Amino acid sequence: MTLFARHDRALTALQTRGRYRALIARAGHDFASNDYLGLVGSEVLQAAAREALDRGVPVGAGGSRLLRGNADEHVLLEQEAAAFFGAQAALFMGGGFQANTAIFSTLPGHEDLVLYDALIHASTHDGMRLGRAKTQAFAHNDVSAAEDAIGTWRAAGNIGQIWIAVESLYSMDGDLAPVAELMALADAHEAVLVVDEAHATGVFGDQGRGLSHAYAARDNLLTLHTCGKGLGVSGALICGAQVLIDTLINKARGFIFATAPSPLNAALVRAALNELRDNPARRAAAQVLMNHAHKEAQDHLGLSGFRSQIMPIIIGADKPTMALACSMQDMGYDIRGIRPPTVPRGTSRLRISITLNTPAPVISDMFRDLSQAKKALPH
Ligand code: PMP
Repeated sequence: MTLFARHDRALTALQTRGRYRALIARAGHDFASNDYLGLVGSEVLQAAAREALDRGVPVGAGGSRLLRGNADEHVLLEQEAAAFFGAQAALFMGGGFQANTAIFSTLPGHEDLVLYDALIHASTHDGMRLGRAKTQAFAHNDVSAAEDAIGTWRAAGNIGQIWIAVESLYSMDGDLAPVAELMALADAHEAVLVVDEAHATGVFGDQGRGLSHAYAARDNLLTLHTCGKGLGVSGALICGAQVLIDTLINKARGFIFATAPSPLNAALVRAALNELRDNPARRAAAQVLMNHAHKEAQDHLGLSGFRSQIMPIIIGADKPTMALACSMQDMGYDIRGIRPPTVPRGTSRLRISITLNTPAPVISDMFRDLSQAKKALPH
């Protein structure tokens, strides 16, 4: 037996099934990033970085937030984020994955129930796995299924707190959650609604504050705004009731035992939030571009029903999906295939994202070329 023979075999099996993942270089027109507002390479964030360095913002935190790692930039960002998103309090973390594991491993207690949408992100699953609450899925975007699950759980005599975990804009499907109905459900059952706004932040809601912004002041709404997608930086802001934020600060292991995000990173997120507030043109342009892309998908592929900047083109099997992605890459379009376990079996897809990095004529060309390449797939 050679060292790591088991790992070798597992990787070979993935290759055989068309599921092997390899890192490929960034090339071609952007149809793959989450940089929806084109902020990643923007002059506004470059200038903010230079300005922050010039005024002495440190590049590293030097420790965890509860020790010496707590920098002025973190505190300012959290104050500004709470005000911007309209919440009582905010907590800045290194990333959305870490934030979801912190939320779900820490806040629901052992008598509680976490009801989660069937398409919820892997990071929420990992958080629930680390936590002590009972967990149960409900059918995607099906509010009455969630209500039935609440009824059944209460009828069995459970008295714990109910937490409802959803995304506002689903990362691999691009559809939107019925946030108003979910909030009403949470209100009716004294449940807490936890909305992962990862893909909506910057793009949807007044000033890009997300699809749940109208309820932001509620005690029973907790939101997650990741900062590495529409905001173009990295990190994540958890926004909600002060008592929940204080609980995370006191109990979340991923917060307590981690080096704080770079203060420079916090300064850049502050700049990105300012840009959302002060430059509505960016969000308006993203909206125009996504409408254009929806129309081109209808014209060239006969596909409709897209709701956002994330446009899944479902192919089904893994290998043709990856072959199609490769031929699009060869034509100069950076389009990636998404396979299980990221999406359910038999629903492998191209995940096309529309960002301000790619102008309308290139979007038109891409959909035209995609319709040809799709026809050329073996049946
Ligand atoms: N939630 C959702 C819905 C996501 O799509 C992602 C990123 N893929 C995350 C959380 C994790 O966020 P981050 O990339 O900031 O760790």
